[in-house]
Amino acid sequence: MARTKFVAGNWKMHGGLAVNLSLLNALRGGMAGVKAQVAVCAPYPYLAQVQSVLAGSPVGWGAQDLSEHAQGAYTGEVAAGMLTEFGCRYAIVGHSERRCYYGDTDDVVAAKFAAALAGGLVPILCIGETLAEREANITAEVVTRQLEAVLNRSGVAALAGAVIAYEPVWAIGTGKTATPAQAQAVHALIRARVARDNAAIGAGVQILYGGSVKPGNAAELFGQADIDGGLIGGASLVAKDFLGICAAA
Ligand code: PEP
Repeated sequence: MARTKFVAGNWKMHGGLAVNLSLLNALRGGMAGVKAQVAVCAPYPYLAQVQSVLAGSPVGWGAQDLSEHAQGAYTGEVAAGMLTEFGCRYAIVGHSERRCYYGDTDDVVAAKFAAALAGGLVPILCIGETLAEREANITAEVVTRQLEAVLNRSGVAALAGAVIAYEPVWAIGTGKTATPAQAQAVHALIRARVARDNAAIGAGVQILYGGSVKPGNAAELFGQADIDGGLIGGASLVAKDFLGICAAA
């Protein structure tokens, strides 16, 4: 099955009104000839700005996290319904920085994934092993456990409305990229695990690679059979680099 390539930027906690404006305008103006689906995931306070600049362009947008709750007394949290009011189509869930620094367990990530879907968003589910886990040869076990937390809670049908991002934690922001073969091997096992529950959904789900993707390594990574694009951190902050990655896809 032919899957559309997808490149999503994760700005993390970077940005400001002035720099965002020039980045967003450059993206908006640089989409001619880009065949891939493209989106940026911005910090919450900038979603109104992102919406106003990108509305009507082929570039979608989303948030980097969301609450597992729909509303209520949860100080500091942001609900799916609030994100869709700002035109968000996507929400990243389970990014390793959330898992490592903010205590997002597999169960919390599964709850956020469910909340995103219930609220009309496409969750971008991040899974991936740490360096210690890779060195202990438990990569397959770790990504399977992270994926099964979502499968067990929401069922395989939920993945028809979601995107998976395989992000080896040791490759995020480190300049160390998984080799195309290393990444492909994990993407294939993720797809096989989804396909075990539903062959069509396994064949159709977009699985992005994330971890130090740059214009120079994107084409080879995205050329692997089970790699459907990328989730891009650092390089998504530089218009030329992000557009280069979009062009590679
Ligand atoms: C990320 O934060 O999801 C990421 C992949 O970051 P980077 O591209 O900077 O490694």
